[in-house]
Amino acid sequence: MLIRFTLSLALTRLAGAVCWHDPAAVALPSFGYALERGPLTWAGLAPAPQYDACRLGKKQSPIVVYTRTAKRVDPKNFKMNITQYINSGGVKLENLGTTLEVHAGREHGSLVGVIGIEGEPYGPYRLENMHFHTPSEHRINDEYYPLEMHLVFKSGNRFAVIGVLFQLVSGSPPNNEFMHNLFLSVRNITRPGTSTITGTLDFRGLSNAIKTGPLYTYNGSLTTPPCTENVKWLVLGGTRPLHVDTYNKVKSVMKFNARYSQNAPGKINLLERARRIADGATVAASSELEPQSDVVLEGDGILVGSEGEEPMVPLLLDDEEYLATQNVLEW
Ligand SMILES: [Zn+2]
Repeated sequence: MLIRFTLSLALTRLAGAVCWHDPAAVALPSFGYALERGPLTWAGLAPAPQYDACRLGKKQSPIVVYTRTAKRVDPKNFKMNITQYINSGGVKLENLGTTLEVHAGREHGSLVGVIGIEGEPYGPYRLENMHFHTPSEHRINDEYYPLEMHLVFKSGNRFAVIGVLFQLVSGSPPNNEFMHNLFLSVRNITRPGTSTITGTLDFRGLSNAIKTGPLYTYNGSLTTPPCTENVKWLVLGGTRPLHVDTYNKVKSVMKFNARYSQNAPGKINLLERARRIADGATVAASSELEPQSDVVLEGDGILVGSEGEEPMVPLLLDDEEYLATQNVLEW
């Protein structure tokens, strides 16, 4: 998952209004996925304690989701709407160096979206951005997938992220018109800091798949620095199809951008555990390294983090100013 600083975002939008292909229009993160800027060193890329959660957090993402015991969101309690703000033409797709991203907003070339979960003390959550990882960050019953989409939503300062896994298919393209159109001109943005315009995006198929579920939920974190915790994750259990030709185009641009699987929620951070072992602790003395598939997600989910961190927000779409701007958000 990716979060950008407000100033960078403001600069991006300011420059984007001038020229969508200006390299200076896209602010680039400082972390990476390889060597000395990779996930093992993220905690040290900013003065402490900014990225401390990356090495000390005990509810880090991504994780392995074990479907036998994972907590689910009942589809009848989940509502979502997502679309292009301007319903014709494409949206702006940026190469951030660390991911390919479409941001949400109220200008041309943006997306708008909202989700709500009945019984959830926070929300509704508004869409922030849509971006991708290859290979997938989450794994289902240990299996990873070629691509994962993250739909990042926010309510106040609390995040909710939907993870959608893609499985490769062949045959006559496009097997998935949404992904085909999204990455239609991805070869134009091989250089980090550049952007292009997608084909028209029809979110209905993707939305229906997400709303049908199963949606597995747990309390985790951003998967990029600052690795902020208390992120509500919703991981779609079924995969969406992705044509192999589309995937190969995306992979050639995005390269590799997946954080390694983190320990089960609530267990010691693997980097801290590794440090202790290196300092002489024995592996046999602790069961903390072993993912506990029977308990991995139990007790997590929508109630975690509700202990007085933020005022409760009723689950109502009562933001009249927002709705007046976007009549597409009727449920
Ligand atoms: Zn992500």
